[in-house]
Parts: sequence; structure tokens; C-alpha cells
Amino acid sequence: MTEEPREFNAASFYAYLKEGQFMGVRCRSCGKLSAEARPMCPACHSREVEWFRFSGQGQLSAFTCISVVPAALAEKGYGRNNPYCSGIVTLAEGPRISARILGVDAASPQTIATGMNLALALEDLDEDKPALAFGPA
Ligand SMILES: [Zn+2]
Repeated sequence: MTEEPREFNAASFYAYLKEGQFMGVRCRSCGKLSAEARPMCPACHSREVEWFRFSGQGQLSAFTCISVVPAALAEKGYGRNNPYCSGIVTLAEGPRISARILGVDAASPQTIATGMNLALALEDLDEDKPALAFGPA
């Protein structure tokens, strides 16, 4: 018996993430890769898309350190005295995606460099509110 194909949406994306897999979609019509699980190709609008497993390797393209945090992160101890880092990661396969950046000193943004190599970080994955995160590779 084969597994029922999962719907192309955020719920499936996070379900895969909890299983340790970073899954995006690939367009069967034009080959476009997308790190966001949507049922339609953003390039050619084809609905012929399939799941694609990303390596989880990438580079930091842009980042910001945030000290005014949402409630869910405040509960985890982030805030004015313990900012967190959010960034845009350019995946080894090409697409870009925004993610939390772990393992960096968000209180000293000058120590964080764009271009640094990153790898998918699932150690701190929140079971209830999973979020994509990367750390230094
Ligand atoms: Zn396409």
C-alpha cells in the first residue's frame, strides 16, 4: 500500500518538518522549485506539482535581530534583553525562505555575517508551533 499523497499546504509542510524532512514542491511542468508548499507553481501556475525534499543546506542572505517579540517567543524567554534572529536563507537548491536563525548571538548583530553557511536546525522544534529554523553549518 502506498502512502496517501499529502496536500500541498502549510500543515503538511510542518508535519514533514516534525518528521525531520524539509519538503517543498517542484513543478512538473517547468521544474521550478519552491520552498513553500502550495498547490500551484508560482512561476507557470501549473497545478502539476510534486513534493521535493530539500537538503537543508543554505546560506544566510539577510537577517534582522528582533527584541520586540511575539507572545509565543516571549514565553520562551526572548525579548528586549534576549533578542532573536530572523533571516532569509538562500537554499543550496536555489529558493529563498524566511526562517529563525539559531546559534548566533542576536544581541550582537555585528557578529552575524550574511553569506554564512547554514543547515536546517530541528533540535528546538516546538511540537505545537513548529517553525523553520537554521543554525551555523
Ligand atoms: Zn511551473
